[in-house]
Amino acid sequence: MTDPILKVSNLKMHFPVKEGILLRAQKFNRAVDGVSFEINPGETMGLVGESGCGKSTLGRCIARLYSPTDGKIEFEGTDITHLRGKKLLPIRQHIQMIFQDPMESLNARHTVGDILEEPFIIHRMGEKAERATRVRKLLDIVGLPSRSVTRYPFEFSGGQRQRIGIARSIALNPKLVICDEPVSALDVSIQSQILNLLVDLQQEFNLAYLFIAHDLAVVKHISDRIAIMYLGNIVEEATGESTYHKPRHPYTRSLISAIPVPDPHKQVNREVITGDVPSPISPPSGCHFHPRCPNVMDKCKADSPTLRRVADHQVACHLDLD
Ligand code: SF4
Repeated sequence: MTDPILKVSNLKMHFPVKEGILLRAQKFNRAVDGVSFEINPGETMGLVGESGCGKSTLGRCIARLYSPTDGKIEFEGTDITHLRGKKLLPIRQHIQMIFQDPMESLNARHTVGDILEEPFIIHRMGEKAERATRVRKLLDIVGLPSRSVTRYPFEFSGGQRQRIGIARSIALNPKLVICDEPVSALDVSIQSQILNLLVDLQQEFNLAYLFIAHDLAVVKHISDRIAIMYLGNIVEEATGESTYHKPRHPYTRSLISAIPVPDPHKQVNREVITGDVPSPISPPSGCHFHPRCPNVMDKCKADSPTLRRVADHQVACHLDLD
């Protein structure tokens, strides 16, 4: 059996909310509140939930852009939870991120050549000529012409800019890439091109992906496993196929039933949930989903369910799902 490349145990990221004249932290935004999961080498794990559920914060904790409040992140068996400064540099080489809006993550005043050369300079890799060769190779891998090196990010379309972001993320031969809504801002026709590119790169370089999305339809085809996140916790985890065809948690069922069906004549039983995700500063008691759950019971308002095995799923719900 393969050892996981990433192991996350009871991870918490609580942001202080400063209030009052003295700006003291009286409350905390519990963006991530006790998340555990593993990713194997070369595997894609989809992480799905509505805006504000904590999935991007979780991704940034794993990439160590945030320092977690509690819990543990192990990468290839090494505890990286509290690494700082120079000790983080090798981790930054092996764990990379692709962001939703490449225009925000690419320096608009730098040429594409400079943007793609920067990781090699930071990690002291190669001489100038060798770096230039690597930059041209990266552009070729992501399907952009080598003349792109002298152009600026604003001269490219959204899909092309995301290709530049992807090229930068794979520059240092990472083992794990955290894809934070990488196609959400793109047209549907471009989305599939970028998804196909990510799948090709995964096969070529044996990349593991944590693929974050708010839309289950986007992740279902590319994910080996899918974790559903709600208000800082994972509420269901299963294979991509089983999540899609046999969702167990009421929240997952509502996400699945919200996926548009191409055939207008096909009868669909929609399980619509109403209301917004509650604030992670003062989450509801018991099961955090209870104010919106169509199956809520008295017990749900008092007791918080933990993940338990139901067939080949992990589910956090008090319902009898066996
Ligand atoms: Fe709904 Fe209760 Fe299950 Fe929560 S624990 S999802 S409120 S049935």
